[in-house]
Amino acid sequence: MGKKGQIIKIAKGTMSDIAQNDINYYAKNINTYAGISINETGKQGVFFGTPEPAPPIENLQQDTAQDTADNTPSASDQATTPQNESGTTSTTSVDDEKPKKCIIEFSVKNKVINDGTFGFDTIPSNYNTICESNIQDLENEYNPFEVESEQYFPPWVSIRVGQTIILQLNKTFNKKDEYQSVAFEEHNDFSYRYMKGSTEVTDMIEAKEVHITCSANNESPDGTLIKVKADGADAGGINIWYPTPKTIDLQWHFVEITGNDKDRSALEDKLKIRHLLSLLEKGLKPSLIDINVTNNVATIVDITAENERLKRERVIKKSDNHHYIEREMKQDFVATIRQNHNAPNNIVTLYLVNRSCLITGAMGEEGGRYQVVAGFSPTGTGIAYGILDGEQKLRHTAIMHEVMHALGLRHTFSRQAVHTFADKKTKNYMDYHETKKYTWKWQWAKLHTYQHLQ
Ligand SMILES: [Zn+2]
Repeated sequence: MGKKGQIIKIAKGTMSDIAQNDINYYAKNINTYAGISINETGKQGVFFGTPEPAPPIENLQQDTAQDTADNTPSASDQATTPQNESGTTSTTSVDDEKPKKCIIEFSVKNKVINDGTFGFDTIPSNYNTICESNIQDLENEYNPFEVESEQYFPPWVSIRVGQTIILQLNKTFNKKDEYQSVAFEEHNDFSYRYMKGSTEVTDMIEAKEVHITCSANNESPDGTLIKVKADGADAGGINIWYPTPKTIDLQWHFVEITGNDKDRSALEDKLKIRHLLSLLEKGLKPSLIDINVTNNVATIVDITAENERLKRERVIKKSDNHHYIEREMKQDFVATIRQNHNAPNNIVTLYLVNRSCLITGAMGEEGGRYQVVAGFSPTGTGIAYGILDGEQKLRHTAIMHEVMHALGLRHTFSRQAVHTFADKKTKNYMDYHETKKYTWKWQWAKLHTYQHLQ
């Protein structure tokens, strides 16, 4: 790709230039174009003005060629410069013959993530910009190693005994025909089948996906790293987390506030048992936790006798067309539920409340009078509260978020979480983003240590 004197980089997905120190671009003209927006972020600000002088033209040629050779493996870049044994660029042309090269990366079909079929966690592609805690600590979670002179972060997968999981293979070969064997290292607890469509093949050279079956639990909670070897050299890998699965019981309750079964029938319309079972399974299967719902029909926690008092004490207020819980008073509301129902401490108790929780007088983004509070489940107590959102809906992913709080997880943006991310930047269940759908490996491990799991 590209004529002599030209470098063209094209990626179907994201392309990143990563350097430990500076990245400098020198050119006659620099043109930047983006279809949507251009974001520049710097810890000490973004500066426009006189740049450093460019190096003399002889050095410039050398630097430009090295830039091509330093692309990350995720960019689907075909214009890699040949390298000599010391790893430095041997020529400034991008048209020379390519070296033998093999990088295997893994992905899963969307359905695996959406259904929580098994856990699949890759380091976020933009982790350098969204991680607000120690970056090195985050990188170390993935047990990185070098593949083709680049840092490689193997994803985490979770699997249980007897389960077969399917991973898609994304392969970068320069000279596929020159390889004898590209395959996972052998491991006593796992067997592999390399598949091209419905045909089983001998290894990853021709395969499109790999089926991995687990035959034993791991007593260590740390998991294990399995590398892909291409004729003996590291070409990729995965981390596998497979401790013995655990279980816990859950009881769910509808909180009747209005009386005459008004809240019960509204909540019955909003959540059926099969949806509850499905959302709990999708959320917790990746962390190897099975939740056993003990009551098929939600039991009623009746606090209608307290309704007038709650209104009088301004715990429950009325807006234009509905009643809501005042954020400042939410502890009084929770205390009222607790006085009327005793939650056993060795199970998960889920209360569903047919009210939103709002901050009166808050200046929201629309200059509004209310700001919606997402929930109020205390961390690690086994008690979760599912409440309505700003549109009076009971969101399934929000219920899962609350149950995960009950089992000990913090928000993705919490300083007390294992790693801290900018808020609303991920689709993790513990973020405030609308589309919550996955958990990370350290969250699986944290959930798995909840004290009342069996
Ligand atoms: Zn929360």
